[in-house]
Amino acid sequence: MNIILLGPPGAGKGTQAKRLEERYGIAQISTGDMLRGEVAAGSAIGRKAKAIMEAGELVPDEIIIAMLSARIARPDCTSGFILDGFPRTVPQAEALDVMLGEHGLTLSAVIELKVDDAALIERIAGRFTCAACGAGYHDVFKPPKTPGRCDVCGGTAFTRRADDNRETVTARLAAYHRQTAPILPYYAAQGRLHSVDGMAGIEAVTAAVEGVLDRLEVGVTEK
Ligand code: ADP
Ligand code: ADP
Ligand code: ZN
Repeated sequence: MNIILLGPPGAGKGTQAKRLEERYGIAQISTGDMLRGEVAAGSAIGRKAKAIMEAGELVPDEIIIAMLSARIARPDCTSGFILDGFPRTVPQAEALDVMLGEHGLTLSAVIELKVDDAALIERIAGRFTCAACGAGYHDVFKPPKTPGRCDVCGGTAFTRRADDNRETVTARLAAYHRQTAPILPYYAAQGRLHSVDGMAGIEAVTAAVEGVLDRLEVGVTEK
């Protein structure tokens, strides 16, 4: 199963992708995480991307497409993948179709998480992650069960993203509406777009997404 999770910054893509990864045994591919890794490593890609990410703008298509193309060729993708944060522009979506064709793969579904802008700002402002294992949390909506201790690994160090501040969020939302939202009609025209109410709680969103995917699997076996 090859899935795209689509939605504005803070919609819950990473949160849901991690849950799907566990449930279906498929690889989560987050271009944002990959880019943050490049920045931390001080690579050529990281040096180009750093200022762009801090400004809340999109990294150029050619950099992202080359990075994703190499990632999709890795062996853990043969049993399926969840794309989280890619594609973000129509040229990226078109390039993905070409790449999938070259690898003999097809897209199972594109799932859009719909969330209001006001809720996104609140979600992003409260987001933090475990420094050791990357588990995601929120000050209000998903605090660790024991304050200051990661539910997953017991770690006590947490990080907040440099771009998760109210000023940068406005630029990121503008980039989403201007450059990313146009890929919704692209996938609707392919008959692959499924929209889910991302305003619901984390568990309810997971149930809705799994509902879409389970119906899809039934459809495949009946054919
Ligand atoms: P969020 O989870 O808030 O949607 P991401 O972690 O996906 O954010 O991305 C963080 C930043 O990395 C983006 O604001 C953008 O600068 C860059 N980025 C990530 N994925 C892409 C992409 N597919 N195309 C262009 N830029 C990207
Ligand atoms: P994205 O990857 O789309 O940028 P995240 O999955 O990182 O979004 O979620 C953004 C923040 O909102 C995180 O702090 C996360 O814990 C929280 N969050 C995710 N889904 C929900 C939800 N359905 N309701 C409330 N908070 C949520
Ligand atoms: Zn942890």
